[in-house]
Amino acid sequence: MSRPDDRYKLSSWRGEFLNFATESAFRKHSEPSMARHLRKALKVWAVLVLLFGVLDLMALGWSEPFFHMMAGRAISALLILGLAWRLKSRPELASEGYAVTAVEVIGFVFFFLIYFVRPDITSWNVGVTLIVIVSLYVFIPNRVVLSNIVALFGIVGTTYCLALKGAAPTLLVGLFFVLSLPTIVGYIAGLRLQLVQREQFMLLSEMKEVNQTLEQEILRREKLEIELKHQATTDPLTGLFNRRQYEIFFEKERDRSVRHGGKLSLCVLDLDHFKQINDLHGHDLGDQALKHVARLFSNTLRQADIIGRFGGEEFIILLPETDLEQAVVVVDRLRQCLEESPLLAGGLIVKITATFGLTEVGEGDELIEDVIRRADKALYDGKLAGRNRVVTANL
Ligand code: GH3
Ligand code: MG
Ligand code: MG
Repeated sequence: MSRPDDRYKLSSWRGEFLNFATESAFRKHSEPSMARHLRKALKVWAVLVLLFGVLDLMALGWSEPFFHMMAGRAISALLILGLAWRLKSRPELASEGYAVTAVEVIGFVFFFLIYFVRPDITSWNVGVTLIVIVSLYVFIPNRVVLSNIVALFGIVGTTYCLALKGAAPTLLVGLFFVLSLPTIVGYIAGLRLQLVQREQFMLLSEMKEVNQTLEQEILRREKLEIELKHQATTDPLTGLFNRRQYEIFFEKERDRSVRHGGKLSLCVLDLDHFKQINDLHGHDLGDQALKHVARLFSNTLRQADIIGRFGGEEFIILLPETDLEQAVVVVDRLRQCLEESPLLAGGLIVKITATFGLTEVGEGDELIEDVIRRADKALYDGKLAGRNRVVTANL
């Protein structure tokens, strides 16, 4: 792959990007406007070719040479208009330049016929050739290299035609130089235009790239922010809320219950004999068990209930709009659900139970610690009473 700055290197004489892919991208980019301009130029060209027939008629009358001339003009015009029509469906013909180059060469061939059919206007014709050459570069959109080829064809052709007509060598050399002048001027003008167009394209492309990088960076930062927020509020093992986040939720729910007079219950739970699970099956399976419990509880609880990991194998559940009596029903359902859903891992069936301490949050409970202490006490009683049970603590 080329270095980024190499992609935009320009040929100073061709006026095109050296890198093929960049040049193709530029042509694709400029194709619609180039095709539009070329179609306009071709139509004007075709009309001019036909209009000049009036001069032929004035000079030749309704004679055979006039009809020959008009036939040549009609064929040229048809060819030119044919290309204009084709450009509608194939705009790439404009940016590639070969089709218009071919039409230009054929146009010149018909133009050369005038030297033989109307020798009376040879010097006029040479003057028109000068204008035609300049027009090649500034009027008809084409790649400057291809315009050079057509101009050269025009110069050589004109010189050859006059040589056939018996012009003196000094005149032919002079003619060659005179026709070279508009070619050089046209070439320089065309080249400058091409270089400026491509430099603009380069700036535009670079700007797009910078924008893209910026957009990607913004997206990356947004993701990072979400990730950081997630990390700051959740427990990495279970994905449940962590203690800090939990305390924020507690305050929110407590304020809400005070404002609306609803009941709020809080439950702490501790897995039974969890140390044994670790000791018997290893720490990794212990981790799996914690995830299993978290998933089970999250799926069983209502949308409004908030569950967090309190640390170790202890969890905490906040039950908004729930008094102690209703909370016992909800929490005992959880207990049963856990008892009936052992962890199945590596061919093992690991039974997990938990003891739950439950209390209602009272109006006087300013701090979450006070509520937890009460629930913890009930939990401790439950452990002493044989575990795998729900114990309540009154306010
Ligand atoms: P009890 O029924 O009295 O609660 O018994 P227990 O064994 O559950 O109680 P104890 O507090 O003695 O043991 C808790 C164990 O939980 C000890 C510790 O190894 C384990 N534990 C704490 N956090 C994690 C964890 O993140 N992963 C794993 N695998 N084990 C953990
Ligand atoms: Mg414990
Ligand atoms: Mg325990």
